Amino acid sequence: MKRVLTGLKPTGDLTLGNYIGSIKLMKDLEGKYESYLFVADLHALTVPNDPVLLHERIKKFIGMYIACGIDPTKHVIYLQSENAYIPAISWLLECSTYYGEASRMIQFKEKSKQNANFTVGLLTYPVLMASDILYCDADLVPVGIDQKQHVELARDIADRFNKRFGEVFTLPDVYINEHGAKIYDLQDPTKKMSKTEENPKGVISLFDDPEVAKSKIMKATTDSLATIKYDPENQPGISNLLTIASSLSNEDIDSIVNKFEGKGYGDFKKYVAEIVGNFLTDIQSKYNDIINSNKVDEILDNGKEITTKLAKDKYEKLSKMMGVYR
Ligand code: AMP
Repeated sequence: MKRVLTGLKPTGDLTLGNYIGSIKLMKDLEGKYESYLFVADLHALTVPNDPVLLHERIKKFIGMYIACGIDPTKHVIYLQSENAYIPAISWLLECSTYYGEASRMIQFKEKSKQNANFTVGLLTYPVLMASDILYCDADLVPVGIDQKQHVELARDIADRFNKRFGEVFTLPDVYINEHGAKIYDLQDPTKKMSKTEENPKGVISLFDDPEVAKSKIMKATTDSLATIKYDPENQPGISNLLTIASSLSNEDIDSIVNKFEGKGYGDFKKYVAEIVGNFLTDIQSKYNDIINSNKVDEILDNGKEITTKLAKDKYEKLSKMMGVYR
């Protein structure tokens, strides 16, 4: 069976963007692939984080994955930092990655501009991501559009390594949702909904009180065209709401558009708010059941065991190929 893998970094609470762009994709692929889903806590260290809050978020992420419908018997779920072979493989890959290609990554260019004291980790994190993907020979990596370039880099690194040292890595393919590849900020629908955004009005956290989330939808920025149409260029706010409603209800965008022909934005927003509110109420109730059981630890222990064996085997193979062994 082919393998699918993805990870989310605990730099803030999971958002609706994370759910639609990533978790839902993993759920939709359930049973069709051997699946690996992790918390990318080492990636979170590339930006400043409060260690106490970071630690607290880790189990919350696992609880939320399950609450969102991820079946732990059908996915290997684990914590990146519990598998020491992953950063070890990353070092081997760093020595097969050019500085030029790492420094050309869009996220690196953008984030390094935001803080003059950025760390080396910000530059090398896509190589760690390559290690996340390549250690287990993932065939498919579902991500939002912002991570597409990093998966392509992983593929380039794997290809180069295979040509130089021998066939050892599967070349991964990126998998992007047709709609929902990027869920936009509700206040500024030209920018990504991000868990590290300072203004919470534009972001729906999966932990938001459903009533608060509904009012964020009601206050979402739209336009003055007074027509409900999927047109991301001219109506980014309305299109974003259509994507959100369609992803959560599994109803086609066209069919939602038809339903609101001739109706106003107020009615449409109320409809989307209801869908979002019901979704949050449902996952939060499931989350409370899971987080108060010892299920999360059992899931992580199992994931640690399976993935450590895989990564150890790969590390030993790579070390031999590169000549660093006794
Ligand atoms: P991150 O939040 O950077 O850890 O990303 C975890 C996953 O969620 C990655 O696959 C991202 O591409 C995806 N993702 C994050 N934010 C969004 C968003 N606003 N819309 C769609 N996908 C997203």
